[in-house]
Amino acid sequence: MNRLVPVLAALPLAFLSTPAFAQTQALEQAAAAALESDTYAWDFVEGITTEVGPRQAGTEAEARGRAWAVAWLKAKGFANVADEPFMMDTWVPGDIARARVTAPFAQDLTVLPLGNSGATPAGGIEAEVVFFRTVDELRAAPAESLAGKIAYISHQMRPAQDGSHYGFAGPVRWVGPGLAASKGAVGVVIKSVGTDHHRNPHTGGTSFPEGVKPIPAGALSLPDAENLERMFARAKGRPLTLRLEMNPRQLGKTESGNVVGEIVGQNPSLPPVLLACHIDSWWNSPGAFDDGAGCAIVAAAALNAAKAGQPLRTVRVLMAGAEETGLWGSKAYSEAHLDEAIAVGIESDFGADRVWRFDSNFRESNPALHKRIAAAVARFGVSAGSDIATGGADLNIVRDQKGALIDLQQDGMRYFDLHHTPDDTLDKIDPVQLRQNVAVWTMVVGILANEANSILTGGPIPSAPKIMQAP
Ligand SMILES: [Zn+2]
Repeated sequence: MNRLVPVLAALPLAFLSTPAFAQTQALEQAAAAALESDTYAWDFVEGITTEVGPRQAGTEAEARGRAWAVAWLKAKGFANVADEPFMMDTWVPGDIARARVTAPFAQDLTVLPLGNSGATPAGGIEAEVVFFRTVDELRAAPAESLAGKIAYISHQMRPAQDGSHYGFAGPVRWVGPGLAASKGAVGVVIKSVGTDHHRNPHTGGTSFPEGVKPIPAGALSLPDAENLERMFARAKGRPLTLRLEMNPRQLGKTESGNVVGEIVGQNPSLPPVLLACHIDSWWNSPGAFDDGAGCAIVAAAALNAAKAGQPLRTVRVLMAGAEETGLWGSKAYSEAHLDEAIAVGIESDFGADRVWRFDSNFRESNPALHKRIAAAVARFGVSAGSDIATGGADLNIVRDQKGALIDLQQDGMRYFDLHHTPDDTLDKIDPVQLRQNVAVWTMVVGILANEANSILTGGPIPSAPKIMQAP
């Protein structure tokens, strides 16, 4: 706090004595302390990865994860802690995932099923593989041209600070299997949507268009995918055949839930600040980066912001269930609470590396608040962006209410090395960068939770968000 002294000396006494200034100073101290020595975030992510581990949506493992989070929030003093149940369609991966090139260069490849993949018959399928360099190449293939074949789809994903290459390569997984199935393929394998060269396939959700029967769909690790591509080059036109065996299945409806907890504000009738993350992970991943760290960051920020004094507004933490397999928790939360106005939503779901940019969707409608937040996080190395924040996957309620959103962009250079793999473990989290996240979030949450005016427009608080008001 020493560096504040010259600044304080230069300020008129009247300003020094305002409650707003005292509050800002307390918040700055709480954020500085978080940067130096926050233990809440590490305690959460270390705890859930150690005591629970992988927690696939809709399964007993996710239920244990939610129970663990409920106990943690209660122990840390959150109020109104609950696990709000909802029903979802649950897919499980099974215990067989094998791929073997049978000709011309016989050898095994590492493969894992994609979420919603169909199963092969027992003993597997064997078929000729057709190579598509991109999902667009597959899209251009004639109807029925894949009858009886297995499609292989590649891509050229590279790490990017803002994670933008996920949007570039992601369609290979999101829509590739459905496209292949609709053109008659009996199976599909993709190059994992990831950026590491470990022999770990990256799983993740896929989907099949209405009326198209799900086919077995797997991800090859990047080294195996590259090996397969070299085989194509050396096959010189000879057919390349693959045997694929996987036994995932749909369980039908099972229960998941959204874990919530609150720091109750001085005026609980004001719309709350909503901090979101997701509690589930894929079965093959302990979910340290995705998204144990996110839940750790939002919960720690709520606790640290409260150290600066009870906030004006309630701060609500939403640890959504079943994000990975189709945003079930986010949709269920919005459905259950749509008529309860949210002041602003922020989400952490991009690992544990440092926050580098702040964006909001009120830069034009409420420039004073946008500038104030930008100035407050600059000290942590966060730049002010000019993109319009769209919020994360678990903020459906705020988008449905057309409410205020903030994006605190994290450095994504390592994120897709770990995403949806067994490598997403605690040791990958850098405690210093984790604390930088908590410090930035503490500042932002503290400012928002003490904002008396409408966050979206800066004007008086509307009785309900626009979407819910009669036209
Ligand atoms: Zn996630």
